[in-house]
Amino acid sequence: MAKNGEGEILEWLGAQQGAMLSLLEELVNIDGGSYDKAGVDAVGARIRAFLESHEIACETIANETYGDALRATVGGPSNAAIMLMGHRDTVFPKGEPTRRPFRIDGDRAYGPGVADMKSGLVMNCFVLAAIKQFGGAPAPVMALFTGDEEIGSPFSRPVIEAHARAARVCFNSEPGRARGAAVTGRKGCVFIRFEITGKAAHSGVNFEMGISAINELAHKTLALHALSDPPNGVTLNVGVVSGGQTVNTIAPWAKGEVDLRFITPAQRDATLAKVEAIMAKSYVPGTSAKLEITGEFVPMVETAEGKALYEHYAAGLKALGVTETTSLFTGGCADSGFASAAGTPTICAVGPVGGRAHSPDEYLEIETLVPRAQALALAVLRLP
Ligand SMILES: [Zn+2]
Repeated sequence: MAKNGEGEILEWLGAQQGAMLSLLEELVNIDGGSYDKAGVDAVGARIRAFLESHEIACETIANETYGDALRATVGGPSNAAIMLMGHRDTVFPKGEPTRRPFRIDGDRAYGPGVADMKSGLVMNCFVLAAIKQFGGAPAPVMALFTGDEEIGSPFSRPVIEAHARAARVCFNSEPGRARGAAVTGRKGCVFIRFEITGKAAHSGVNFEMGISAINELAHKTLALHALSDPPNGVTLNVGVVSGGQTVNTIAPWAKGEVDLRFITPAQRDATLAKVEAIMAKSYVPGTSAKLEITGEFVPMVETAEGKALYEHYAAGLKALGVTETTSLFTGGCADSGFASAAGTPTICAVGPVGGRAHSPDEYLEIETLVPRAQALALAVLRLP
């Protein structure tokens, strides 16, 4: 049975595809890589203007280095909030929207961050606007718009954790998966940078006097990759390396970056200890190494509460005529890990459906903007 506000909200959202697309076009065309505070804040300013035009107040949680966090809350009796979440930063270098602006080709929209996750932000904005206008939510609906997810949320992590702890449930609007799928579990990851010091020497005249940091890096890379245990969800990838001075010099330095992925916090601790042991060991005598953790996401561990929240969300999708629904586990990391680790039932990837994130082929399935917004609205409205 339709609750107060529900019919009006579905109908209003049903008429918003054009308005959603034009806000999306504006957001995609604002440059905003994670380290571009001014750009990420400009995306925030546009979101704030939209919300304020719908009489929704926005609060800023300011930061000097990374994009500010924005918080907007609408309606509902004053108990624990229903939390919506999304990030405004993209992975792309400065100037990307100028080179590759928003465009529509057939059923798909393209442009940097079009799926990951500016369409999710647009969806959250319109769901807030609908609830502001028609009411019906069983609790306040609070949306956070953060600005540093793609680099591990160095500023926003504690903001997300504090808000999640106070919330009853959390929906993160990362790009949705095909059909009715959303994400109930994610791996955690640790980004590690390591630097090796050797000793320079002329490779022709004083070969024996040199200590090759590159040789050491090669040993360490093999050892790191050997720690991977894909059947159990643990992987290590040395994704970036550099080193050396010239071709005729024994390399005095080398460095690399490792992405460690895992399913459980215990796997993280055990594997990180092994990584530290590899760094402490000198395969080439005379080298030394140090490591630094440059970013980290905690896993979104699958829980009964998270699964139940997905079933609740999927029931709304089914009411909208989406017959196939599934919950997924993914190796990708996101802010939803911080929310779920705070003990709050959380589901992720409830945003409009898209793919090929972080690539020039990134796309959004345009016709999923409205139904995904309606599904999220239903999930919010029908919480007990
Ligand atoms: Zn994302």
